[in-house]
Amino acid sequence: MRYLPIHVDTKDAQILIVGGEGAAEAKLRTLIKSDAHLHVVAPEISPEITRWLDKGLLKHSSRDFQASDLEGIRLVYAATEDDELNLEIGDLARSKGLLVNAADQKEACDFITPALVDRSPVIVSIGTEGTSPSLARAVKTDLEARLPSGLGTLALIINDLRARVKAAIPSLARRQLFWADIFDGKDLVSQLRVSGEGLTQRVEDKLEGHNKRKVGGVSLVGAGPGNPDLLTLAARQKLHSADVIVYDRLVSQGVLDFGRREAEYIYVGKEPGGKSTPQDEINAIIIKKALDGDTVIRLKSGDPLIFGRADEEIDALETAGISYDIVPGITSAASAAAEIGASLTTRGHNKAVSFLTGHDAKGFAEHDWKGLATGGARAAVYMGVGASGFIQGRLLMHGAEKDLPVTVVENASRESQIIVATTLERLAEDIKSNGIKGPAILLLGYKPRSIAEDSFKTEAAQ
Ligand code: SAH
Repeated sequence: MRYLPIHVDTKDAQILIVGGEGAAEAKLRTLIKSDAHLHVVAPEISPEITRWLDKGLLKHSSRDFQASDLEGIRLVYAATEDDELNLEIGDLARSKGLLVNAADQKEACDFITPALVDRSPVIVSIGTEGTSPSLARAVKTDLEARLPSGLGTLALIINDLRARVKAAIPSLARRQLFWADIFDGKDLVSQLRVSGEGLTQRVEDKLEGHNKRKVGGVSLVGAGPGNPDLLTLAARQKLHSADVIVYDRLVSQGVLDFGRREAEYIYVGKEPGGKSTPQDEINAIIIKKALDGDTVIRLKSGDPLIFGRADEEIDALETAGISYDIVPGITSAASAAAEIGASLTTRGHNKAVSFLTGHDAKGFAEHDWKGLATGGARAAVYMGVGASGFIQGRLLMHGAEKDLPVTVVENASRESQIIVATTLERLAEDIKSNGIKGPAILLLGYKPRSIAEDSFKTEAAQ
C-alpha cells in the first residue's frame, strides 16, 4: 500500500486551489462539501465556480498565484490548466512543508483524491493508487447502489446511543464486541436498512441480554492452509466478533486480517527448532480469557482437529466448565491435493488414504511401514520435511518401489507455493535441492495431474 488513506479534518482549515477551469472545478466539486475555507486563486473562474462563489462556498482572488497564498494553508491543489505551472506551485508548496495535489500528475502529488460514496458522516473512499480511475468509479457505482441513503442518519443515531452503551458496559473491549454483535457481519447491507427506531430497539434488547452474560466461550476454528479465500464463512463470522484471538505460527496474516482491529491477538506458535508455548500455558490462556467473559477464538492452521492438539484443549475446557464449539477448516493435505489436481482416492487403486505425521512427541514418528509400502498405499505426511530421509529409508526398507511417485507441496494455496514432483528414491535429495523448508505436505503415491497426463502420453506412444 503506497498511499495511506486518511480522513483529514477540514474544520477551520484553509485549502488553496490554484486554477479556475475544468481541473479546479473537478476538485472543488468534492471540496465544497467539506467544512474547509476554500481559497480559489485564478484570473478567471468558470460559471460553475462562480455559482459556488455566489453561494458563499468559497473565496476568490482574481489574479495569478503568488507565494504568499501559501501562508496558513493546510492543503494545496495545483489545478491550473498548465502542467508546468502546477509543478512549480507544487514544488514551492512542498518546500514549505505543505501537502500538494497536482491535477493529473500523479508523480507530483503528495496525496491523491479517492472516489467517494458520501453518506456523511459515513464516507467510503475508493482508491486504486492511480492505476484505474474507471475501476474506482465502477466500485463506487456498486456501493452507491448497495448502501442505503439513510446510512448517515443511522450513524448519527448510533453516536447518540454510544453514551448509554458506555454507561452500561464500561470495558472498551466488551463494548466493541457489543457493537460488532449489533452488526454481526451477516448480510450487513440489509441490516443497515433498519430504521432508527429498529436500531434503538435492537441496542436496548442487546443491552438487556448483555447484563445477563457472565462467562465467555471458546471456538476452535480452522484457519485453512493460508489463502484467505479458503476460510469458511463460519470462521470469518467468528473472527469478526472475537475479543481474543489465540493463534498459531502457520495462521496467515490474510486470515488474521478478518479479525477486528480492537481484538487482543495472542501468538502461541512455535518457530521450527525454537521455543514453543507449552500446551498447558495455551490451555490456561484460553480458559482465563473465557472466564473473564471474553469471546475467544483458538485459531489453528488447516483443520483444528488434525495434528492440532485440539483434544487436549477441549479436555481442559470441559474440566473448567467452559462452553466451546468447533469450526472445521480445510486441512493442508486437502489443499495440497487440490493444487496438484490429484484425487486423494482412486476407484480400484486405494480404498484408504492415511494422514500421517513425520514427527511425534518422541521424534521421527514410526508407522505401519509395511502396510504403507505395499502396492497402492497412499498417504499425506504432515510435518514431514525434516523426517523425509527417515520416511524414505523406512519405506524402501519395507519393500516400497523406488519410483513410487511423491509430490511435495510447500505453502499450499499461498502465493509462495512450491510443488516438487519426485520419487521415493529421490525424495530427501529433492527436498534439499529445492530448498523446501516447510510448511509442506508430502503426498506419497501421488503425482501432479499434468505430469500424470504427460507420462500417460509417453507410455501410449511407446
Ligand atoms: N491442523 C493443520 C496441521 C497442523 S500440523 C492442518 O489441518 O493442516 C503442521 C503441518 O501442517 C506442517 O508441518 C505442514 O505439514 C502442514 N501445513 C500447514 N499449512 C500448510 C500449507 N499451507 N502447505 C503445506 N503444508 C501445510
